[in-house]
Amino acid sequence: MTDPASDEASDEASDEALDAARVAVAEHARRLVADRLVAGTAGNLSVRVGDLVAVTASGVAYDTMTADDVVVVDLAGTPVVGSLRPTSELPLHLLCYTRHGASAVVHTHSAAAVAVSLLRDDVPLVHYQTAVFGGAVSVAEYAPYGTDELAANTSAALADRTAAVMRHHGTIVLGPSLRAAYDGAAHLEWLCDVWLRASAVGTPRLLSTEQVDDVVERFRGYGQR
Ligand code: 13P
Ligand code: ZN
Repeated sequence: MTDPASDEASDEASDEALDAARVAVAEHARRLVADRLVAGTAGNLSVRVGDLVAVTASGVAYDTMTADDVVVVDLAGTPVVGSLRPTSELPLHLLCYTRHGASAVVHTHSAAAVAVSLLRDDVPLVHYQTAVFGGAVSVAEYAPYGTDELAANTSAALADRTAAVMRHHGTIVLGPSLRAAYDGAAHLEWLCDVWLRASAVGTPRLLSTEQVDDVVERFRGYGQR
């Protein structure tokens, strides 16, 4: 069975794989509020299974979300499974799959990242861990939620990166699995929080682009490979 929390999407979307994906999306959605990555029903997440996408429904409470609240659409956004309306950010999620090669997508409204989006055009290089996203994370230009314009602005900010901050809005993080994308979203929030704390009491020293690029290379051999 495909485990969407840890494996890359398979080409074949069996019923079993889709069921597992819907369970995994609901499990990660239930963590969003407790982990302070979203407020209310804001934010959303999805995982790709073959040529289909399991994605949170629009405006559904996260703390009580079940697999039945997760809908399945194809890569054009046509509903395949489930009766609820998919997230209003479906255009953005679909672009992450079709243009950026994601296997999972997490969109948060986490406070530190939103604060940074009001102050900066990118997330300052406060820590070498920014290398997990491929380098400095850009802030996408504002557009109203759920619009193709927001999807396009955010896609532009995602060039050569696996994350972006969305001005006056939140974050988007791509991953090879739902777990990786979720952990990335928590990580991005941590980086933004560190910068806010440091800049509240002084002018933070930052890493250079070269120092972060060096870690991007080092990460290619990191961990149990
Ligand atoms: P949905 O409830 O439609 O997923 O919208 C939340 C959100 O974050 C919009 O940007
Ligand atoms: Zn949002």
